[in-house]
Amino acid sequence: MNNEKNQSLGPNTLAVRAGQVRSQEGEHSELIFASSSYVFANAAEAAARFSGDSPGNIYSRFTNPTVRTFEQRLAALEQGERCIGTSSGMSAILCTLLGLLKVGDHIVSSRSIFGTTVNLLSNILPKYGITTTFVELADYEGWEKSIKPETKLLFLETPSNPLTEIVDIKKVADIAHNHNALLVVDNCFCTPCLQLPLKLGADIVIHSATKYLDGQGRCVGGAIVGSDALLGEDIYAFLRTGGASMSPFNAWVFLKGLETLSIRMRAHCQNAQQIAEWLENQKFVEKVYYPGLKSHPQYDLAAEQQSGAGGIVSFEVKGGKEQAWNFIDSINLFSITANLGDTKSTITHPGTTTHHKLSEEQRLEVGIKPGLIRLSVGLEDATDLIEDLEQASSVVT
Ligand SMILES: *Cc1c(COP(=O)(O)O)cnc(C)c1O
Repeated sequence: MNNEKNQSLGPNTLAVRAGQVRSQEGEHSELIFASSSYVFANAAEAAARFSGDSPGNIYSRFTNPTVRTFEQRLAALEQGERCIGTSSGMSAILCTLLGLLKVGDHIVSSRSIFGTTVNLLSNILPKYGITTTFVELADYEGWEKSIKPETKLLFLETPSNPLTEIVDIKKVADIAHNHNALLVVDNCFCTPCLQLPLKLGADIVIHSATKYLDGQGRCVGGAIVGSDALLGEDIYAFLRTGGASMSPFNAWVFLKGLETLSIRMRAHCQNAQQIAEWLENQKFVEKVYYPGLKSHPQYDLAAEQQSGAGGIVSFEVKGGKEQAWNFIDSINLFSITANLGDTKSTITHPGTTTHHKLSEEQRLEVGIKPGLIRLSVGLEDATDLIEDLEQASSVVT
């Protein structure tokens, strides 16, 4: 299906159909093209492919038909011109930043982003002369003030991890564009089913396909979505030389994942909403963080910007770290793991896992209190999940 045709189709149709090219075998489900290289009809065709005069496959570090199907499907869902599949979410971020930036360039990023991204921005990229200033996610003045003449790119995640803070993407996109900078949004938590950053003015969308796009905890992968102009030259050139390409098998898992993404996301949201509402009424709970609750400070913005509140719920138990650990150790059904976006519900203590590298003081500064627990709500029966939370709460009350 070509791009023109995509524009008239709904997102559920695109999720199932976009990007498929049927082979002469007439297969119904998409093929896994497990081939590292491709054969040319003759020497002249080989030469034309290598010179770029004739489009087509050469080698799977550059292009692969299964990866292409995934890319076209995700591009259609994010309403972007082009998508590049990568070997992981982190390599999607790395290829974007190293593809677009050079020594001397500056990034402004929200503080509460994925821990490994913080490490990349704070410890790795400065070695190559690219520096970052961190700001509070919803501090619009802070974004504006942190921009320098050499700022080329703004980076954010919304909702934030683990406190589900929301930022107005349109506002930050306007700030970026007023200063000739690009806005990159990591859309891992919402997926295109709940939020379309490109439509709100972002220039590039990043995905860790490892999370909801796969949705069943099987493969590691990532993706970059944006305009042909931005992705085609520098980012793709970096990827095909840097070699962080997506494997065809993983691409196949992800593209099949996209087919059920919207019904899964709806179910994640429903379960998370029920759990958040239940938690809010429990005596052992100090505070609940979920954008679908009226008590969330940005409830209205979330309702406007997102078509669902997502599957991540965080809450503080009374009694600090000891009680949070007791609670986690008493859980039966939730898996104790830091991964998220899986059909299986997970539970984690951010203070001593995903955010352990921060000092106690830094953690408090970003609002991660010792009693904080993060849930990635899966697709089990909400009543079973709530029963499990309730039995675990007996050790902390
Ligand atoms: C997991 C994650 C990443 C990194 O993705 P990998 O596939 O693990 O490399 C980036 N951003 C967010 C928000 C994530 O949750």
